Amino acid sequence: MSENTFMGVDRSKIDWKPTIDYSKCNFCMECDKFCPHQVFEVHETEDIKLIVKNPNNCVVFCRACSKCCGPDAITFPAKNETIQKISEIRKEMESHD
Ligand code: SF4
Ligand code: SF4
Repeated sequence: MSENTFMGVDRSKIDWKPTIDYSKCNFCMECDKFCPHQVFEVHETEDIKLIVKNPNNCVVFCRACSKCCGPDAITFPAKNETIQKISEIRKEMESHD
């Protein structure tokens, strides 16, 4: 099984990632400095100076970077909905075993 799985499910099938609200973000880059997983990418010369480049690198159910975001510009999917989707995918996988 590939390394990039969570609870036996292919990570790319799990929608867990930070979303930046650009109406609130002040591009302080604290989230990028904090996260050790290269989820974000800085684009200094662009108008939008920070993007979520590698959403699948985000650790499922981690929300740590949002705590260092002063303007509260980072949101995540609802955890219970993500759990439900993972369990649906697992059931689907089991039915094909
Ligand atoms: S910590 Fe918040 S305000 Fe700062 S760059 Fe990240 S999303 Fe934007
Ligand atoms: S939630 Fe955790 S893993 Fe995901 S981007 Fe933020 S600090 Fe990185």
